[in-house]
Amino acid sequence: MNGLMMDIPLTITSIVRHAERVHGHKEIVSITRDNPRHRYTYRECFARARQLANVLQAWGLDRGDRIATLAWNDYRHLETYYSSACSGYVCHTINPRLFPEQIVYIVNHAEDRYVFLDPDFWPLIEGIADQCPAVEGWVIMTTREHMPESDRADVMCYEDLMSPQSDVFEWPDLDEQVACSLCYTSGTTGNPKGVLYSHRSTVLHTYATLMPDAMNISSGDVMLPIVPMFHVNAWGNPYACPVAGAKLVMPGNKMGDGPTLATLINEEGVTLSAGVPTVWLNLLAHLRESGERIDTLTRIVVGGSACPLSVMEEFDTYGVDTRHAWGMTEMSPLGTTNHAGGHRALYSPEQFAEMRTNVGTPIWGVEIKITDDDNQELPWDGKAFGALKVRGPWICSDYFKLDVSDAHAEPGWFETGDVATVSPDGFVSITDRTKDVIKSGGEWISSIEVENAATGHPKVSEAAVIGRIHEKWGERPLLIVVRAPGEDPSPEELKAYLDGKIAKWWIPDDVQFIDEMPHTATGKIQKTALRETFADYCFPAQQ
Ligand code: ADP
Repeated sequence: MNGLMMDIPLTITSIVRHAERVHGHKEIVSITRDNPRHRYTYRECFARARQLANVLQAWGLDRGDRIATLAWNDYRHLETYYSSACSGYVCHTINPRLFPEQIVYIVNHAEDRYVFLDPDFWPLIEGIADQCPAVEGWVIMTTREHMPESDRADVMCYEDLMSPQSDVFEWPDLDEQVACSLCYTSGTTGNPKGVLYSHRSTVLHTYATLMPDAMNISSGDVMLPIVPMFHVNAWGNPYACPVAGAKLVMPGNKMGDGPTLATLINEEGVTLSAGVPTVWLNLLAHLRESGERIDTLTRIVVGGSACPLSVMEEFDTYGVDTRHAWGMTEMSPLGTTNHAGGHRALYSPEQFAEMRTNVGTPIWGVEIKITDDDNQELPWDGKAFGALKVRGPWICSDYFKLDVSDAHAEPGWFETGDVATVSPDGFVSITDRTKDVIKSGGEWISSIEVENAATGHPKVSEAAVIGRIHEKWGERPLLIVVRAPGEDPSPEELKAYLDGKIAKWWIPDDVQFIDEMPHTATGKIQKTALRETFADYCFPAQQ
């Protein structure tokens, strides 16, 4: 017997309808190139999204067609998100930090019909536009007076397109299973792969991220998403904030800029923020230098890469609770969050330091398991390392236009490519990417844990660990360090510092110093590049 409940589709359009009526007066503040502090309300945002829908409709697009964006976090990008998805098109967000040839590949692979871009990215696009023949128009998200020079007939000005349009538009009824957005993984190996989100998966992920032990966003919050809207929908914040009625503060192209972030936090009263560890390193460095405070900020969510304990402890001194989270593009992205900070009193300071650096427990909706090489499930005992697999309604079942998916070695489960241990009560520790695992004498060394410990040294700005060939042990860890400004630590000093913080046999055999750490387009340390740089490296004892 079926239940007798209404069958209302879970669509992004329902977010618009709700936010417009209930939270219409709440503010959205953005930094853009043409306005250092643009502000308007959700009501105005969604009215403009309807104006833009009239523009899109006039172009004669078909349902499911892709509209691409190459843009920072700001209000025009938000309008494009909602306008395209609620009209039944797919908003394809492109990461501008990808190599130009990767951008050409994904624009062509996605068959984008129009591309909306920030003026900052015009120089990049101007050089590759001719290699994307299917694109019918390039819309520059600015006003006429800030338009870059171009002779191309297919370049348009966002505000010129908007101004003649009415804000009356009837959003179509959509099936909840239809696609709403598309994001390509950065593809450190091979071509990027497209993850195609549906209205349903987005709405369910939104519900989940709002939960208190997840992102805990409420109408009293002022949210500063420093995670980009060009990668995994800024972790769902552009949907969760209007649902909750939180004020949104968007940093535009100042995402990595410590002083601007501190100013935005203080002047807009930001209570909550989300970003990758590198962003926080920039903010903390600025606060240290300037002596500025960030008193309104109560909590941050950190993910994308492992968050070093030293970052969490420094935020403690500002009264900011750091919540560690783990996820990936294929998971919309949220998979686990660490809520240990909510019950600190249960732990001794040492236990808490250990507890908070893992990535926490799966949020409701995400099922996890770890398996060995034969797909046999491993116990949740905090010791067994295994391939981490996930399933749930906001987890990718297949990649866009790719027939063969190596991500589903086991049917029904998505292989994350991460190696993890799980404690008896479900706390997950990510030890490595499968491809970065270091095996010494047949036993795994967690490069992430070694990196975290090394980053805690005050003379270290960034640290990475890779495995290098060793005659006796097969592989041993090599620590690669970017020194903190003006510092010159010795390898012995760093190794002595690690003693007692990690297992003795995990201590790297040697330390090498470099000036700059290579990063991927999503801000992760690029281990493939490090492995190339140190391809001929031999440990001293073996030379
Ligand atoms: P890409 O940049 O390759 O597109 P994602 O942005 O989807 O990938 O990143 C997903 C990966 O990032 C995860 O599989 C994991 O390896 C890593 N990651 C994400 N959050 C954390 C975390 N809190 N700790 C350690 N690794 C993390």
